[in-house]
Amino acid sequence: MKRIVILGSTGSIGTSALEVIRVFPREFEVVGLSCHENVGLLRKQIALFKPEAVCITEPQSYRQFLSQTTKTGVKVLSGEEGLSLLAAWENVDIVLNGLVGAVGLKPTLAAIELGRRIALANKETLVMAGDLINQSARARGAEVLPVDSEHSAIWQCLRTGGKKEIKSLIITASGGPFHGQPELNLEKVSRKEALAHPTWYMGRKISVDSATLMNKGLEVIEAHWLFGVPPEKIRVVIHPQSIVHSLVEFVDNSVMAQMSLPDMKLPISYALFYPERKPLSDDSFNLTKIAALSFLEPDFRRFPCLNLAYEALRSGGTAPAVLNAANEVAVFGFLEEKVKFTRIPEVIREVLSKHQVKSSPQVEEIFEADAWARGRAEALLEQKSR
Ligand code: MG
Repeated sequence: MKRIVILGSTGSIGTSALEVIRVFPREFEVVGLSCHENVGLLRKQIALFKPEAVCITEPQSYRQFLSQTTKTGVKVLSGEEGLSLLAAWENVDIVLNGLVGAVGLKPTLAAIELGRRIALANKETLVMAGDLINQSARARGAEVLPVDSEHSAIWQCLRTGGKKEIKSLIITASGGPFHGQPELNLEKVSRKEALAHPTWYMGRKISVDSATLMNKGLEVIEAHWLFGVPPEKIRVVIHPQSIVHSLVEFVDNSVMAQMSLPDMKLPISYALFYPERKPLSDDSFNLTKIAALSFLEPDFRRFPCLNLAYEALRSGGTAPAVLNAANEVAVFGFLEEKVKFTRIPEVIREVLSKHQVKSSPQVEEIFEADAWARGRAEALLEQKSR
């Protein structure tokens, strides 16, 4: 029986992870859960999985939860400190980090400190602090395993060859809602158009990142740190069907692709059970039904965020943290209809160009750069959008 903590249990990764766990109830003991504000769902998860502790990060939701809850025997933690306490909870084997945003970094570090297995879905952890994470994981014997579908695909492909045999990594992207519409004026796209399916707030952030291709840019940075491959050997292709989740090209020109129907339960279960594979469902993969797969070059000119991410990765040090923070502020500015869609990459570029990169930063320096970039980006949003 593996003792598991799920950070962000009410989000899309968290709920999929709990579905996987329900299929294998004898394999896992759910020890900790966390949510930001969805206390209604958290309550249901507590009843079902009986964790030892939970954390609610949004203060008002925390108070509401306490006032409406009678004795359950569950320890209730709060705030960002609560997340790190959960990640470091007693005798935990696996921490699944499904948090969204910079808030995911410290709990990952807390779990690494204790040499734990971390199933990582929080992009910001590696984007902000990839070097530091790798160093501390090596020092503590912690495993950082990818949960994102693209990185899981690369990881699975790498079972067929060694790191030294990699020629390139090819990350696939669905392309977002504006792909394949060269005539569309991106200056005029609305928030609604950028959101394929508006769900909750953080879900909306990732939807906009898909539309700008920044999501792929962040994944390029993550891939660099996960697999130790330099930026010039990491490529992105648009693949609208989302069947090939990513590929690895080896030095002998053999290319391995990982394919499956798009379902996050697969990469989650791969990370949780690694190195084993488990039967997940009866869905069968029918090639003749899929019929056609297409691959296209991304449009770097129309979607400058992708290049900005490559540039930040090449600059190294605190630059990716600055990219990430400026992007977050610009995206929320767009969601609040303060700025146009095309202003997002402009804000990021302007903030990055003003940044004094610090190489090999410590955690505090990363958070300083993050705060500086947020302030800078917010100031730019206040100026009239051009
Ligand atoms: Mg992804």
